[in-house]
Amino acid sequence: MRNTRSTQLLFELSRPGCVGVDLPVCDVPERPISELLPAGAINPAPLPLPELSEPDVVRHFVNLSTQNMSVDTHFYPLGSCTMKYNPKRNERLASLPGMVDLHPYQPESAVQGLLELLHESQYFLAEISGLPAVSLQPAAGAHGEMTALLVAAAYFRDRGEKRTTVLIPDGAHGTNPASAAMAGFDVQPIRCDEDGFVDLEEFATHLNERTAVFMITNPNTLGIFEKNIKKIVEMVHAVGALVYLDGANMNAILGITRPGDFGADLMHYNPHKTFSGPHGGGGPGAGPIAVAEKLAPYLPSPIVVKENGVYRLDYDRPKSIGRVRSFFGNVGVLVRMYCYIRTHGAKGLREVSEHAVLNANYLLAKVKHFLEVPHGDRCMHEFVASPVKLKNEKNISTMDIAKRLLDYGYHAPTVYFPLIVKEAMMIEPTETESKATLDAFAEALFRITGESADLLHDAPHTTPVSRADEVLAARKPVLKHGG
Ligand SMILES: *Cc1c(COP(=O)(O)O)cnc(C)c1O
Repeated sequence: MRNTRSTQLLFELSRPGCVGVDLPVCDVPERPISELLPAGAINPAPLPLPELSEPDVVRHFVNLSTQNMSVDTHFYPLGSCTMKYNPKRNERLASLPGMVDLHPYQPESAVQGLLELLHESQYFLAEISGLPAVSLQPAAGAHGEMTALLVAAAYFRDRGEKRTTVLIPDGAHGTNPASAAMAGFDVQPIRCDEDGFVDLEEFATHLNERTAVFMITNPNTLGIFEKNIKKIVEMVHAVGALVYLDGANMNAILGITRPGDFGADLMHYNPHKTFSGPHGGGGPGAGPIAVAEKLAPYLPSPIVVKENGVYRLDYDRPKSIGRVRSFFGNVGVLVRMYCYIRTHGAKGLREVSEHAVLNANYLLAKVKHFLEVPHGDRCMHEFVASPVKLKNEKNISTMDIAKRLLDYGYHAPTVYFPLIVKEAMMIEPTETESKATLDAFAEALFRITGESADLLHDAPHTTPVSRADEVLAARKPVLKHGG
């Protein structure tokens, strides 16, 4: 497994004089650079850049890439951040010359095809959410959260209402409070009860005419559909506030229920999760938002509109919060999303969620026999195990199990999130995995629970880098080889 060559830096592989490209002989007289540029603009010595051939560079990066795990190489049951297989068809369509050769400064008349695709995407996302107005601009889920909260702030400002607080359940993703703070709101956490539902009593004590928005993830990060959602929505609306749905878990409910139907006023999508945009290494993503009719005027500009059979970008929206992203947003991700939605169709999208939920419940039914699953026998698209007994009895932590899974050839689940569950291990298999894969994964987990603490404390044993000291790595990162 270990490949020392590929762990060397390009700088160490450098050989003086080696080049990756040959330029043709210059066909104009050469002149010294000192005649062309002022002295202050010229580097006294050449930059110490590595000198390599093209194969050297390709091998370096391909070898490095094989030291990591990805959806294309391994099962990747990461809770919260749906990591499903990304169909290659989407890649092929997104890289058609008609897509990749477009320039954002082309006139609208020359990009009618793309505008049509974006216009239809707005429509699809409105239909799937049950919320009629859509902006494709935000560049990630978190960015969508912030954009939607700015939309909510503009709405209340317009109505002359002074609302300062955003309420967020304590199991929420960290981006929720961060986005609320970025949008200028105070954040009030709301406790969840033992079963993972919003504690309605505590909720009622914090809900008042100062409340702007209640942000909820549904199904939540425990993989549970909030049973009181109807009541919660009524309570929020009764004080004139808005309900925001964090749509990161849409993979559980596509075509089964719609946020707009259960009372949400605003939401974001994560196309890179739900609609199979590849998202290794943290990006790229997109974070389209969908909102209720009354909030439509405040959406970012421009929006794609269709008039007399012609598509155009509508900037004439006086109440808009303005731009939140250059050009049209992360269009490459949106194109993949569009292909995914069109490929599945309405019935297919519903099947995606049905299979995602079925797979998660199948795995839950196996795992609960050897790891505690404190929040029930049934889940939506993901569930949270909590190996507290192993921790207490054998000093084996969730981190040990997660690291050891790498030796068995599995990407680790999400660990220590949500914060409300001790030793949390959040498992989301997604619909793209076979029964054989789920069985093999459950078997590996089971075997690990029987291994010795000593073995597990040092795991992983077979990866290019074994157990790292994560605190030290964060505090004193070694950014230079041998440095
Ligand atoms: C992933 C996620 C987010 C943030 O989305 P990004 O696209 O990563 O910015 C927000 N909430 C939940 C529940 C998530 O899983």
